[in-house]
Amino acid sequence: MIREPLIFEISARGKRAFVLPKLDVPEDKDLLKGLPLRDEIRGFPEVSEVEVVRHFTRLSQTNYCVDTTFYPLGSCTMKYSPKVNEKVAAMESFLFSHPYAPEELVQGNLEILKTTEDMLGEITGMDAFTLQPSAGAQGELVGMMIIRAFLEKRGDARQVVLIPDSAHGTNPSSAHICGYRVEEIKSNEKGTIDLASLDRAMTERVAALMITNPNTLGIFESDILKIAEIVHARGGLLYMDGANLNALVGRFRPGDMGVDVIHLNLHKTFSTPHGGGGPGAGPVGVKKELAAHLPIPVIVKSEQGYALNFDLPLSVGRVRSFFGNFLVIVKALAYVLSLGPEGLKEVADVAVLNANYIRKSLENVYHLKYTTSTLHECVFSDKFQKEHGVQNIDIAKRLIDFGVHPPTMSFPLIVPGALMIEPTETESKRDLDTFIEAMKKIAREAAEMPAVVKTAPHTSYVRRLDETTAARNPILRWEGKIKE
Ligand SMILES: *Cc1c(COP(=O)(O)O)cnc(C)c1O
Repeated sequence: MIREPLIFEISARGKRAFVLPKLDVPEDKDLLKGLPLRDEIRGFPEVSEVEVVRHFTRLSQTNYCVDTTFYPLGSCTMKYSPKVNEKVAAMESFLFSHPYAPEELVQGNLEILKTTEDMLGEITGMDAFTLQPSAGAQGELVGMMIIRAFLEKRGDARQVVLIPDSAHGTNPSSAHICGYRVEEIKSNEKGTIDLASLDRAMTERVAALMITNPNTLGIFESDILKIAEIVHARGGLLYMDGANLNALVGRFRPGDMGVDVIHLNLHKTFSTPHGGGGPGAGPVGVKKELAAHLPIPVIVKSEQGYALNFDLPLSVGRVRSFFGNFLVIVKALAYVLSLGPEGLKEVADVAVLNANYIRKSLENVYHLKYTTSTLHECVFSDKFQKEHGVQNIDIAKRLIDFGVHPPTMSFPLIVPGALMIEPTETESKRDLDTFIEAMKKIAREAAEMPAVVKTAPHTSYVRRLDETTAARNPILRWEGKIKE
Protein backbone atom coordinates (compact mmCIF):
# COMPACT_ATOMS: atom_id res chain seq x y z
CA MET A 1 0.00 0.00 0.00
CA ILE A 2 1.37 3.42 -0.89
CA ARG A 3 1.67 6.09 1.75
CA GLU A 4 -0.61 8.95 0.82
CA PRO A 5 1.38 12.18 0.93
CA LEU A 6 -0.09 15.31 2.46
CA ILE A 7 -1.67 17.60 -0.09
CA PHE A 8 1.04 20.13 0.76
CA GLU A 9 3.65 17.62 -0.37
CA ILE A 10 1.93 17.12 -3.72
CA SER A 11 1.74 20.88 -4.24
CA ALA A 12 3.87 22.59 -6.87
CA ARG A 13 3.85 26.31 -7.58
CA GLY A 14 1.57 27.38 -10.42
CA LYS A 15 -0.52 24.21 -10.71
CA ARG A 16 -4.21 24.82 -11.22
CA ALA A 17 -7.34 22.67 -11.28
CA PHE A 18 -8.69 24.61 -14.23
CA VAL A 19 -7.75 27.73 -16.17
CA LEU A 20 -10.11 30.48 -17.21
CA PRO A 21 -9.95 31.69 -20.82
CA LYS A 22 -7.96 34.85 -21.56
CA LEU A 23 -9.84 38.12 -21.07
CA ASP A 24 -11.38 39.48 -24.24
CA VAL A 25 -11.91 42.91 -22.62
CA PRO A 26 -9.29 45.27 -21.19
CA GLU A 27 -8.20 44.40 -17.66
CA ASP A 28 -9.27 46.95 -15.00
CA LYS A 29 -7.14 46.50 -11.89
CA ASP A 30 -8.92 49.27 -9.98
CA LEU A 31 -12.36 47.75 -10.23
CA LEU A 32 -12.06 45.87 -6.94
CA LYS A 33 -10.17 48.59 -5.08
CA GLY A 34 -11.39 49.18 -1.54
CA LEU A 35 -13.37 45.94 -1.41
CA PRO A 36 -12.65 43.41 1.34
CA LEU A 37 -10.59 41.03 -0.76
CA ARG A 38 -9.04 37.89 0.65
CA ASP A 39 -5.29 37.93 1.14
CA GLU A 40 -3.10 35.30 -0.42
CA ILE A 41 -3.06 32.26 1.88
CA ARG A 42 0.57 31.47 2.57
CA GLY A 43 1.49 27.93 1.68
CA PHE A 44 -1.90 27.16 0.15
CA PRO A 45 -1.47 23.91 -1.80
CA GLU A 46 -1.46 24.21 -5.58
CA VAL A 47 -2.50 21.02 -7.34
CA SER A 48 -4.15 19.86 -10.55
CA GLU A 49 -7.73 18.63 -10.66
CA VAL A 50 -6.83 14.97 -11.02
CA GLU A 51 -4.36 15.24 -8.14
CA VAL A 52 -6.91 16.69 -5.78
CA VAL A 53 -9.58 14.15 -6.80
CA ARG A 54 -7.24 11.18 -6.38
CA HIS A 55 -5.81 12.46 -3.12
CA PHE A 56 -9.16 12.77 -1.40
CA THR A 57 -10.64 9.65 -2.98
CA ARG A 58 -7.68 7.61 -1.76
CA LEU A 59 -7.96 9.10 1.70
CA SER A 60 -11.67 8.29 1.81
CA GLN A 61 -10.89 4.70 0.89
CA THR A 62 -8.61 4.28 3.89
CA ASN A 63 -11.61 4.82 6.13
CA TYR A 64 -14.21 2.33 7.32
CA CYS A 65 -17.87 2.94 6.67
CA VAL A 66 -21.07 0.91 6.68
CA ASP A 67 -21.28 1.19 2.92
CA THR A 68 -18.12 -0.88 2.61
CA THR A 69 -17.82 -3.09 5.69
CA PHE A 70 -19.50 -4.57 8.77
CA TYR A 71 -19.43 -2.11 11.65
CA PRO A 72 -20.47 -3.93 14.85
CA LEU A 73 -20.01 -1.01 17.26
CA GLY A 74 -22.01 -1.91 20.37
CA SER A 75 -24.79 0.44 21.50
CA CYS A 76 -24.07 2.76 18.59
CA THR A 77 -26.35 1.10 16.01
CA MET A 78 -24.01 1.66 13.08
CA LYS A 79 -26.47 0.18 10.65
CA TYR A 80 -26.93 0.61 6.96
CA SER A 81 -29.60 3.21 6.21
CA PRO A 82 -31.62 2.84 3.01
CA LYS A 83 -30.63 5.38 0.36
CA VAL A 84 -34.25 6.16 -0.48
CA ASN A 85 -34.54 8.17 2.72
CA GLU A 86 -31.51 10.25 1.74
CA LYS A 87 -33.15 10.84 -1.59
CA VAL A 88 -36.35 12.09 0.00
CA ALA A 89 -34.44 14.41 2.34
CA ALA A 90 -32.46 15.76 -0.61
CA MET A 91 -35.58 16.94 -2.46
CA GLU A 92 -35.14 20.61 -3.26
CA SER A 93 -38.32 21.68 -1.53
CA PHE A 94 -36.92 20.36 1.76
CA LEU A 95 -33.30 21.21 1.14
CA PHE A 96 -33.88 24.86 0.33
CA SER A 97 -36.74 25.75 2.65
CA HIS A 98 -35.55 28.65 4.76
CA PRO A 99 -35.74 28.40 8.56
CA TYR A 100 -37.01 31.99 8.71
CA ALA A 101 -39.77 31.40 6.15
CA PRO A 102 -43.17 32.47 7.49
CA GLU A 103 -45.39 29.69 8.81
CA GLU A 104 -47.89 29.97 5.97
CA LEU A 105 -45.15 29.17 3.42
CA VAL A 106 -43.87 26.07 5.23
CA GLN A 107 -47.13 24.33 6.04
CA GLY A 108 -45.82 21.15 4.41
CA ASN A 109 -42.72 21.16 6.59
CA LEU A 110 -44.78 21.72 9.72
CA GLU A 111 -47.06 18.88 8.71
CA ILE A 112 -44.02 16.61 8.38
CA LEU A 113 -42.85 17.59 11.85
CA LYS A 114 -46.28 17.09 13.41
CA THR A 115 -46.81 13.77 11.63
CA THR A 116 -43.42 12.56 12.86
CA GLU A 117 -44.27 13.58 16.43
CA ASP A 118 -47.56 11.68 16.21
CA MET A 119 -45.92 8.59 14.73
CA LEU A 120 -43.23 8.51 17.39
CA GLY A 121 -46.02 8.88 19.95
CA GLU A 122 -47.80 5.88 18.51
CA ILE A 123 -44.60 3.83 18.29
CA THR A 124 -43.59 4.55 21.91
CA GLY A 125 -46.96 5.01 23.61
CA MET A 126 -46.08 8.54 24.75
CA ASP A 127 -48.55 11.45 24.58
CA ALA A 128 -46.42 14.29 23.22
CA PHE A 129 -43.03 14.72 21.56
CA THR A 130 -40.52 17.47 20.92
CA LEU A 131 -38.25 16.96 17.91
CA GLN A 132 -35.85 19.73 18.80
CA PRO A 133 -32.87 18.11 20.58
CA SER A 134 -30.03 17.42 18.16
CA ALA A 135 -28.54 14.37 19.82
CA GLY A 136 -29.34 11.62 22.25
CA ALA A 137 -27.38 13.32 25.01
CA GLN A 138 -29.20 16.60 24.41
CA GLY A 139 -32.49 14.68 24.53
CA GLU A 140 -31.50 13.29 27.93
CA LEU A 141 -30.74 16.75 29.20
CA VAL A 142 -34.04 18.13 27.90
CA GLY A 143 -35.87 15.15 29.41
CA MET A 144 -34.26 15.78 32.80
CA MET A 145 -35.07 19.50 32.55
CA ILE A 146 -38.71 18.57 31.95
CA ILE A 147 -38.69 16.26 34.97
CA ARG A 148 -37.14 18.99 37.12
CA ALA A 149 -39.70 21.56 35.93
CA PHE A 150 -42.56 19.13 36.64
CA LEU A 151 -41.33 18.31 40.14
CA GLU A 152 -40.63 21.97 40.94
CA LYS A 153 -44.18 22.80 39.95
CA ARG A 154 -45.35 20.03 42.29
CA GLY A 155 -43.36 21.68 45.06
CA ASP A 156 -40.02 19.87 45.33
CA ALA A 157 -37.47 19.18 42.59
CA ARG A 158 -35.75 16.58 44.86
CA GLN A 159 -31.99 15.96 44.83
CA VAL A 160 -31.07 12.56 43.45
CA VAL A 161 -31.31 10.63 40.19
CA LEU A 162 -30.78 6.88 40.32
CA ILE A 163 -28.88 5.28 37.46
CA PRO A 164 -28.05 1.57 37.07
CA ASP A 165 -24.43 0.56 36.49
CA SER A 166 -25.48 -0.86 33.11
CA ALA A 167 -26.75 2.52 31.82
CA HIS A 168 -25.25 4.45 28.95
CA GLY A 169 -22.42 6.75 30.00
CA THR A 170 -24.20 9.92 28.95
CA ASN A 171 -27.02 9.41 31.49
CA PRO A 172 -25.09 10.36 34.64
CA SER A 173 -23.68 13.44 32.90
CA SER A 174 -27.14 14.62 31.82
CA ALA A 175 -28.59 14.19 35.32
CA HIS A 176 -25.56 15.95 36.82
CA ILE A 177 -25.73 18.93 34.42
CA CYS A 178 -29.38 19.23 35.38
CA GLY A 179 -28.32 19.72 39.01
CA TYR A 180 -28.97 16.23 40.38
CA ARG A 181 -26.68 14.02 42.40
CA VAL A 182 -26.30 10.61 40.79
CA GLU A 183 -26.54 7.38 42.78
CA GLU A 184 -25.73 4.06 41.21
CA ILE A 185 -27.95 0.98 41.29
CA LYS A 186 -26.23 -2.38 41.01
CA SER A 187 -27.11 -5.01 38.46
CA ASN A 188 -28.01 -8.53 39.53
CA GLU A 189 -26.45 -11.73 38.14
CA LYS A 190 -28.86 -11.64 35.18
CA GLY A 191 -27.51 -8.22 34.18
CA THR A 192 -30.73 -6.38 34.97
CA ILE A 193 -31.64 -3.92 37.72
CA ASP A 194 -31.52 -5.45 41.18
CA LEU A 195 -35.01 -4.77 42.60
CA ALA A 196 -33.90 -4.96 46.22
CA SER A 197 -31.20 -2.31 45.62
CA LEU A 198 -33.73 -0.13 43.83
CA ASP A 199 -36.21 -0.58 46.65
CA ARG A 200 -33.61 0.57 49.20
CA ALA A 201 -32.37 3.52 47.14
CA MET A 202 -35.76 4.81 46.01
CA THR A 203 -36.52 7.34 48.73
CA GLU A 204 -38.39 10.63 48.71
CA ARG A 205 -35.13 12.41 47.77
CA VAL A 206 -35.15 10.70 44.40
CA ALA A 207 -36.48 12.64 41.43
CA ALA A 208 -36.17 9.91 38.83
CA LEU A 209 -34.72 6.59 37.81
CA MET A 210 -32.97 6.73 34.45
CA ILE A 211 -32.87 3.37 32.77
CA THR A 212 -31.33 2.40 29.47
CA ASN A 213 -33.60 -0.20 27.93
CA PRO A 214 -32.35 -2.46 26.51
CA ASN A 215 -29.40 -1.76 28.77
CA THR A 216 -25.80 -1.59 27.60
CA LEU A 217 -25.49 -5.36 28.04
CA GLY A 218 -28.19 -5.57 25.39
CA ILE A 219 -30.55 -7.04 28.00
CA PHE A 220 -34.21 -6.11 28.30
CA GLU A 221 -35.28 -4.86 31.73
CA SER A 222 -37.92 -7.55 32.13
CA ASP A 223 -38.97 -6.23 35.54
CA ILE A 224 -39.93 -2.88 34.09
CA LEU A 225 -43.50 -3.01 35.44
CA LYS A 226 -42.28 -3.63 38.99
CA ILE A 227 -39.57 -1.00 38.54
CA ALA A 228 -42.15 1.60 37.45
CA GLU A 229 -44.35 0.68 40.39
CA ILE A 230 -41.56 1.16 42.94
CA VAL A 231 -40.51 4.50 41.42
CA HIS A 232 -44.03 5.89 41.11
CA ALA A 233 -45.12 4.74 44.57
CA ARG A 234 -42.50 7.08 46.07
CA GLY A 235 -43.35 10.03 43.85
CA GLY A 236 -40.47 9.65 41.37
CA LEU A 237 -40.51 9.55 37.60
CA LEU A 238 -39.23 6.89 35.23
CA TYR A 239 -36.91 8.07 32.45
CA MET A 240 -36.04 5.67 29.66
CA ASP A 241 -33.03 6.06 27.40
CA GLY A 242 -34.52 4.68 24.20
CA ALA A 243 -31.55 5.39 21.94
CA ASN A 244 -31.52 1.77 20.80
CA LEU A 245 -35.16 1.41 19.88
CA ASN A 246 -34.30 -0.80 16.91
CA ALA A 247 -34.39 -3.65 19.44
CA LEU A 248 -37.97 -2.88 20.48
CA VAL A 249 -39.71 -0.91 17.76
CA GLY A 250 -43.15 -2.25 16.93
CA ARG A 251 -42.91 -4.87 19.70
CA PHE A 252 -42.81 -2.90 22.93
CA ARG A 253 -44.26 0.49 23.85
CA PRO A 254 -42.42 2.10 26.77
CA GLY A 255 -45.40 4.38 27.43
CA ASP A 256 -47.56 1.35 28.19
CA MET A 257 -45.05 0.11 30.77
CA GLY A 258 -44.89 3.12 33.06
CA VAL A 259 -42.20 5.19 31.36
CA ASP A 260 -42.85 8.93 31.89
CA VAL A 261 -40.13 10.45 29.70
CA ILE A 262 -38.12 8.90 26.87
CA HIS A 263 -35.62 10.04 24.30
CA LEU A 264 -34.94 8.32 20.99
CA ASN A 265 -32.01 8.61 18.63
CA LEU A 266 -33.32 9.14 15.12
CA HIS A 267 -29.71 8.86 13.96
CA LYS A 268 -29.52 5.31 15.24
CA THR A 269 -32.86 3.65 14.83
CA PHE A 270 -34.53 5.82 12.21
CA SER A 271 -32.27 5.97 9.21
CA THR A 272 -29.79 8.79 9.55
CA PRO A 273 -26.30 7.33 9.25
CA HIS A 274 -24.20 8.38 12.20
CA GLY A 275 -20.68 8.27 13.43
CA GLY A 276 -19.37 11.26 11.52
CA GLY A 277 -20.30 13.72 14.23
CA GLY A 278 -23.79 14.60 13.04
CA PRO A 279 -26.34 15.65 12.14
CA GLY A 280 -28.58 13.86 14.59
CA ALA A 281 -31.89 14.17 16.38
CA GLY A 282 -32.83 13.09 19.90
CA PRO A 283 -36.61 13.62 20.18
CA VAL A 284 -38.11 13.50 23.66
CA GLY A 285 -41.50 11.97 24.40
CA VAL A 286 -43.52 12.60 27.56
CA LYS A 287 -46.76 11.59 29.22
CA LYS A 288 -49.52 14.19 29.13
CA GLU A 289 -48.94 15.37 32.72
CA LEU A 290 -45.50 16.58 31.61
CA ALA A 291 -46.45 18.05 28.24
CA ALA A 292 -46.81 21.59 29.56
CA HIS A 293 -43.05 21.64 30.17
CA LEU A 294 -41.92 20.70 26.65
CA PRO A 295 -39.50 23.12 24.97
CA ILE A 296 -40.93 25.90 22.84
CA PRO A 297 -42.08 26.24 20.16
CA VAL A 298 -44.62 23.43 19.96
CA ILE A 299 -46.41 22.73 16.70
CA VAL A 300 -50.18 23.05 16.89
CA LYS A 301 -52.80 22.20 14.33
CA SER A 302 -56.00 24.13 13.94
CA GLU A 303 -58.55 24.72 11.20
CA GLN A 304 -56.28 27.43 9.78
CA GLY A 305 -53.44 24.95 9.43
CA TYR A 306 -50.21 24.40 11.35
CA ALA A 307 -48.65 27.02 13.58
CA LEU A 308 -45.83 27.40 16.09
CA ASN A 309 -46.87 28.13 19.65
CA PHE A 310 -44.31 30.03 21.73
CA ASP A 311 -46.75 30.77 24.52
CA LEU A 312 -46.18 27.94 26.97
CA PRO A 313 -45.63 29.48 30.40
CA LEU A 314 -44.39 26.27 32.04
CA SER A 315 -42.04 25.32 29.20
CA VAL A 316 -38.37 24.63 29.90
CA GLY A 317 -37.72 27.19 27.15
CA ARG A 318 -35.84 27.03 23.89
CA VAL A 319 -33.28 24.27 23.53
CA ARG A 320 -32.31 24.74 19.91
CA SER A 321 -32.66 27.13 17.01
CA PHE A 322 -35.48 26.72 14.47
CA PHE A 323 -37.11 23.27 14.21
CA GLY A 324 -34.36 20.87 15.22
CA ASN A 325 -32.44 19.00 12.52
CA PHE A 326 -35.24 19.11 9.98
CA LEU A 327 -33.75 16.86 7.31
CA VAL A 328 -32.96 14.14 9.86
CA ILE A 329 -36.64 14.21 10.78
CA VAL A 330 -37.66 13.97 7.11
CA LYS A 331 -35.49 10.87 6.80
CA ALA A 332 -37.02 9.32 9.92
CA LEU A 333 -40.54 9.86 8.61
CA ALA A 334 -39.62 8.44 5.21
CA TYR A 335 -38.11 5.41 6.96
CA VAL A 336 -41.19 4.77 9.10
CA LEU A 337 -43.57 5.19 6.17
CA SER A 338 -41.52 3.01 3.84
CA LEU A 339 -41.43 0.16 6.36
CA GLY A 340 -44.94 0.44 7.76
CA PRO A 341 -46.04 -1.24 11.01
CA GLU A 342 -45.15 -4.77 9.87
CA GLY A 343 -41.77 -3.66 8.58
CA LEU A 344 -40.93 -1.96 11.88
CA LYS A 345 -41.71 -5.16 13.79
CA GLU A 346 -39.37 -7.02 11.46
CA VAL A 347 -36.62 -4.48 12.25
CA ALA A 348 -36.80 -5.40 15.94
CA ASP A 349 -37.12 -9.12 15.25
CA VAL A 350 -34.09 -9.27 12.98
CA ALA A 351 -31.97 -7.00 15.22
CA VAL A 352 -32.60 -9.40 18.11
CA LEU A 353 -32.16 -12.53 16.00
CA ASN A 354 -28.83 -11.32 14.61
CA ALA A 355 -27.40 -10.45 18.02
CA ASN A 356 -28.45 -13.78 19.51
CA TYR A 357 -27.09 -15.68 16.52
CA ILE A 358 -23.68 -14.13 17.20
CA ARG A 359 -24.00 -14.74 20.94
CA LYS A 360 -24.82 -18.43 20.50
CA SER A 361 -22.21 -18.96 17.78
CA LEU A 362 -19.38 -17.54 19.89
CA GLU A 363 -20.49 -18.41 23.43
CA ASN A 364 -17.84 -21.06 24.01
CA VAL A 365 -15.13 -19.23 22.12
CA TYR A 366 -15.33 -15.94 24.01
CA HIS A 367 -16.34 -15.56 27.62
CA LEU A 368 -19.86 -14.32 28.38
CA LYS A 369 -20.23 -12.88 31.86
CA TYR A 370 -24.00 -12.60 31.47
CA THR A 371 -25.63 -15.53 29.72
CA THR A 372 -29.11 -13.98 29.71
CA SER A 373 -30.42 -13.85 26.16
CA THR A 374 -30.00 -10.40 24.75
CA LEU A 375 -31.84 -8.04 22.48
CA HIS A 376 -29.83 -6.06 19.95
CA GLU A 377 -26.26 -6.58 21.18
CA CYS A 378 -24.13 -8.96 23.21
CA VAL A 379 -21.13 -8.36 25.42
CA PHE A 380 -18.24 -10.84 25.40
CA SER A 381 -15.02 -10.48 27.29
CA ASP A 382 -11.37 -11.37 26.69
CA LYS A 383 -11.20 -13.62 29.77
CA PHE A 384 -10.28 -16.82 27.82
CA GLN A 385 -7.78 -15.02 25.58
CA LYS A 386 -6.10 -13.23 28.51
CA GLU A 387 -4.70 -16.61 29.55
CA HIS A 388 -2.47 -16.27 26.47
CA GLY A 389 -1.73 -12.60 27.11
CA VAL A 390 -4.19 -11.39 24.47
CA GLN A 391 -6.52 -8.55 25.42
CA ASN A 392 -9.72 -7.12 24.01
CA ILE A 393 -7.83 -4.36 22.20
CA ASP A 394 -5.69 -6.96 20.39
CA ILE A 395 -8.80 -8.82 19.25
CA ALA A 396 -10.43 -5.58 18.11
CA LYS A 397 -7.33 -4.56 16.14
CA ARG A 398 -6.96 -8.01 14.56
CA LEU A 399 -10.55 -7.77 13.27
CA ILE A 400 -9.41 -4.91 11.04
CA ASP A 401 -7.32 -7.44 9.09
CA PHE A 402 -10.54 -9.36 8.43
CA GLY A 403 -12.29 -6.29 7.07
CA VAL A 404 -14.40 -5.65 10.17
CA HIS A 405 -14.53 -2.41 12.12
CA PRO A 406 -13.50 -3.03 15.75
CA PRO A 407 -16.45 -3.36 18.13
CA THR A 408 -16.92 -1.19 21.22
CA MET A 409 -14.36 -2.12 23.85
CA SER A 410 -14.06 -1.99 27.63
CA PHE A 411 -17.67 -0.85 28.03
CA PRO A 412 -19.89 -1.40 29.95
CA LEU A 413 -17.52 -1.24 32.90
CA ILE A 414 -19.29 -4.11 34.70
CA VAL A 415 -17.73 -6.51 32.18
CA PRO A 416 -13.92 -6.34 32.46
CA GLY A 417 -12.25 -6.64 29.03
CA ALA A 418 -15.58 -6.15 27.29
CA LEU A 419 -16.16 -6.58 23.57
CA MET A 420 -19.62 -5.23 22.89
CA ILE A 421 -21.03 -6.35 19.57
CA GLU A 422 -24.12 -4.98 17.89
CA PRO A 423 -24.70 -6.47 14.46
CA THR A 424 -27.96 -4.54 13.77
CA GLU A 425 -30.83 -5.76 11.62
CA THR A 426 -29.25 -4.79 8.33
CA GLU A 427 -26.58 -7.53 8.21
CA SER A 428 -27.18 -10.68 6.19
CA LYS A 429 -26.53 -14.15 7.56
CA ARG A 430 -23.64 -14.43 5.12
CA ASP A 431 -21.93 -11.36 6.59
CA LEU A 432 -22.61 -12.51 10.14
CA ASP A 433 -21.04 -15.88 9.35
CA THR A 434 -17.96 -14.20 7.92
CA PHE A 435 -17.64 -12.21 11.14
CA ILE A 436 -18.15 -15.29 13.33
CA GLU A 437 -15.48 -17.19 11.39
CA ALA A 438 -13.06 -14.27 11.83
CA MET A 439 -13.72 -14.17 15.58
CA LYS A 440 -13.13 -17.94 15.83
CA LYS A 441 -9.93 -17.67 13.84
CA ILE A 442 -8.68 -14.88 16.11
CA ALA A 443 -9.44 -17.01 19.18
CA ARG A 444 -7.38 -19.86 17.65
CA GLU A 445 -4.55 -17.46 16.86
CA ALA A 446 -4.66 -16.09 20.41
CA ALA A 447 -4.00 -19.60 21.70
CA GLU A 448 -1.49 -20.73 19.08
CA MET A 449 0.34 -17.63 17.89
CA PRO A 450 -0.60 -14.74 20.17
CA ALA A 451 2.10 -12.48 18.69
CA VAL A 452 0.12 -12.23 15.45
CA VAL A 453 -2.90 -10.89 17.33
CA LYS A 454 -0.92 -8.64 19.64
CA THR A 455 0.78 -6.83 16.77
CA ALA A 456 -2.32 -6.46 14.57
CA PRO A 457 -3.47 -4.85 12.37
CA HIS A 458 -1.10 -6.01 9.64
CA THR A 459 -2.97 -5.02 6.49
CA SER A 460 -4.37 -1.60 7.31
CA TYR A 461 -3.16 1.76 6.15
CA VAL A 462 -1.53 2.47 9.48
CA ARG A 463 -0.43 -0.17 11.99
CA ARG A 464 -0.91 -0.22 15.76
CA LEU A 465 -0.86 3.40 16.86
CA ASP A 466 0.42 4.81 20.10
CA GLU A 467 -2.98 6.02 21.27
CA THR A 468 -1.71 7.73 24.41
CA THR A 469 0.75 9.87 22.49
CA ALA A 470 -1.87 10.57 19.82
CA ALA A 471 -4.26 11.82 22.51
CA ARG A 472 -1.72 13.74 24.59
CA ASN A 473 0.47 15.22 21.86
CA PRO A 474 -1.66 15.46 18.75
CA ILE A 475 0.11 16.97 15.74
CA LEU A 476 -2.52 19.21 14.24
CA ARG A 477 -0.37 21.44 12.08
CA TRP A 478 1.96 20.40 9.30
CA GLU A 479 5.37 21.88 9.92
CA GLY A 480 7.07 20.56 6.81
CA LYS A 481 8.49 22.69 4.05
CA ILE A 482 6.43 23.67 1.03
CA LYS A 483 8.13 22.98 -2.25
CA GLU A 484 8.78 26.19 -4.12
C1 LIG B 1 -25.75 6.70 21.54
C2 LIG B 1 -26.42 6.65 22.82
C3 LIG B 1 -26.64 7.82 23.57
C4 LIG B 1 -26.10 9.17 23.17
O1 LIG B 1 -26.57 9.63 21.94
P1 LIG B 1 -25.78 10.80 21.16
O2 LIG B 1 -26.64 11.14 20.00
O3 LIG B 1 -24.46 10.24 20.78
O4 LIG B 1 -25.63 11.96 22.10
C5 LIG B 1 -27.35 7.70 24.74
N1 LIG B 1 -27.79 6.51 25.18
C6 LIG B 1 -27.58 5.36 24.49
C7 LIG B 1 -28.11 4.05 25.03
C8 LIG B 1 -26.90 5.38 23.29
O5 LIG B 1 -26.68 4.24 22.62
